Amino acid sequence: MAARDDPATDRAPDRGLVVVVEDESVIADVVRRYLTAAGFAVRICRTGQEGLAAVRADRPVAIVLDIGLPDMDGLDLCRRLRDGGDWTPVLFATARDEDVDRILGLELGGDDYLVKPFNPRELVARVRAVLRRAGGPGGAGAAALRVGRVRIDPGRRRVWVDPDPARPAAGGEEREVDLTATEFDLLLHLARSPGRVFERAGLLSAVWGYASAAGARTVDVHVAALRAKLGDASPIRTVRGVGYAADDR
Ligand code: CA
Repeated sequence: MAARDDPATDRAPDRGLVVVVEDESVIADVVRRYLTAAGFAVRICRTGQEGLAAVRADRPVAIVLDIGLPDMDGLDLCRRLRDGGDWTPVLFATARDEDVDRILGLELGGDDYLVKPFNPRELVARVRAVLRRAGGPGGAGAAALRVGRVRIDPGRRRVWVDPDPARPAAGGEEREVDLTATEFDLLLHLARSPGRVFERAGLLSAVWGYASAAGARTVDVHVAALRAKLGDASPIRTVRGVGYAADDR
């Protein structure tokens, strides 16, 4: 009996559901086996439409998303989710370098990516890291903090910016900003030590939970996305040749 041969099936899935949108069945099967062994329930979807429907119906804790799908581009799928207000953490899987450029270059709210062929253990580690970010490090009840014109509620994982004091005509209401889990954690990490300069490698291991050669660029792209969303209220300062700091001003 096949199920008895597979240690993955001996463990009850209790870490939540991961939707895997992947049309290559060999990859999908390997991913399923490793995620199941790590305690996740897994639903494999072969097309983008199926993936969209599964995400909407089943509310997964994370999505592993192939870019090259038969009926749509995985980046479009992610964009449609985000446009619909769905911020489920997304881990992109891609076989092409140019896709990495697109993932990093667009503000899609993807949380991480892996380049095929990837080590399935690495994929499991990345999924865990994405979920750790999505669920923390704020923690329920953690005190709100403020850096410059940005107010952060770590427990509820929400962020607001104050109106520009120099432009009262622009309106006096603070504005809530939608951030991805990764953007939120990066901002929170910087904001917890105002003025302190963090190196990219340190940010990568603290926020992403791993170190990689390509990591510096990942940090830069997320900082750029944060700045775009926070606008002129962004407290993030570039320290040339070193990294970033959040200034409380
Ligand atoms: Ca594919």
